[in-house]
Amino acid sequence: MTITLNETHDAALRSWVTSANTGSTDFPVQNLPYGVFKRKGSSEHFNIGVAIGDQILDLAEAHRLGIFSELDSKAFEHAIFSDSLNALMNLGHATWSALRLALSNALREGATQQDALQACLLPQLDAEYALPAQIGDYTDFYTSVHHATAVGKLFRPDNPLLPNYKWVPIGYHGRSSSIGISGQTFHRPVGQTMPPGLSEPVVGPAKRMDYEMEIGIFIGNGNALGERIGIEDAEQHVFGLCLLNDWSARDMQAWEYQPLGPFLAKNFASTISPWVVTIEALAPYRKGWTRDAADPQPLPYLESADLRDSGAFDIQLEVLLQTDTMRKEGSAPQRLSLSNFRHSYWTVSQLVTHHTVNGCNLRAGDLLGSGTQSGPLPEEAGSLLELSEGGKKPIVLSNGEQRVFIADGDSIIMRGWAQKDGAPRIGFGEVSGTLLPALAI
Ligand code: MN
Repeated sequence: MTITLNETHDAALRSWVTSANTGSTDFPVQNLPYGVFKRKGSSEHFNIGVAIGDQILDLAEAHRLGIFSELDSKAFEHAIFSDSLNALMNLGHATWSALRLALSNALREGATQQDALQACLLPQLDAEYALPAQIGDYTDFYTSVHHATAVGKLFRPDNPLLPNYKWVPIGYHGRSSSIGISGQTFHRPVGQTMPPGLSEPVVGPAKRMDYEMEIGIFIGNGNALGERIGIEDAEQHVFGLCLLNDWSARDMQAWEYQPLGPFLAKNFASTISPWVVTIEALAPYRKGWTRDAADPQPLPYLESADLRDSGAFDIQLEVLLQTDTMRKEGSAPQRLSLSNFRHSYWTVSQLVTHHTVNGCNLRAGDLLGSGTQSGPLPEEAGSLLELSEGGKKPIVLSNGEQRVFIADGDSIIMRGWAQKDGAPRIGFGEVSGTLLPALAI
């Protein structure tokens, strides 16, 4: 099922929140992403909000004003007064779509509710965020063939891409407890590595710290254990997308990853953006999904006409670095790479369908990671491991500093946005995180 365009996507719509009409904002009235926020430093409860321009509309406050009277039900009330998006995610596509239309009506120019809703706005600069949902389970995939090939070359020069890659979306079950919201700081992990030339491993701070530029996929209403989600229905079970930085310790990963996959190299921190952009908001920015004719075509359960027509997402993905020195000098973060989610070898509906083909149950608030989104060109790589060619080629920054991997005090910032002719630019905001020095062992 493909979501058709409707009046909420109309490029001519403008909001009475004037900062939403600038053309450069991530959050015009056609976007309407969801998050969980409160006034910075306050003891207030976290509420569900929608980003509009440089403001946040508090949905609980708006509901008290009767803005969503057409959606009124006990289940909706429970969801809208919650401090996470799980209950709303569980209500399903028809409710999400009705809520989006109600928000679009209430926030567009000329809305009769404008005067009342002014009091429900908080500037984003005055907000702090919580995780948008309680993430029950987290699965990380590996959907960029360019990333898989580049990394495979470093770990296995003679055999970079394993033969299953082009048949099965590769993934592993990650850890949800260490997923944090943008602004997360964490200490450089300590663990086992096998330094080159040694015959026994050592324990100490990881030396090859890296990021992974990923899309996070939030599951909406899930499936019962034993039931599968078919490819045609898969996107109806997806609430929306966010930005995800899957921090990775490459030297720990190289030592531990065989035979069962990543473990302590990946589970010390993962950071997501506060805003979840809905699948419906992304409808104008879809692209046909293709598979090179020389490659195996998907097995029937991972194939559909909709997928070929519009299965891919045209989302630009940018990674920036701000070193401790740059921060002290007051200089802006510097871009490391720019790529696009449309290069993904497997797309969102295929991940959902494959995850449930054996009857595995997905639940509202579960998070899937897309895997590092590297494009076909070297400068489109979504990790430092690739950009520095395995740590061999330093990246020289404009202030003269060099990096092969992340240094203590470095902040990594990721941004994402979609744009095309005839549609407004919509964005994901950003996800940032900062590496602190290791704690002594
Ligand atoms: Mn990853």
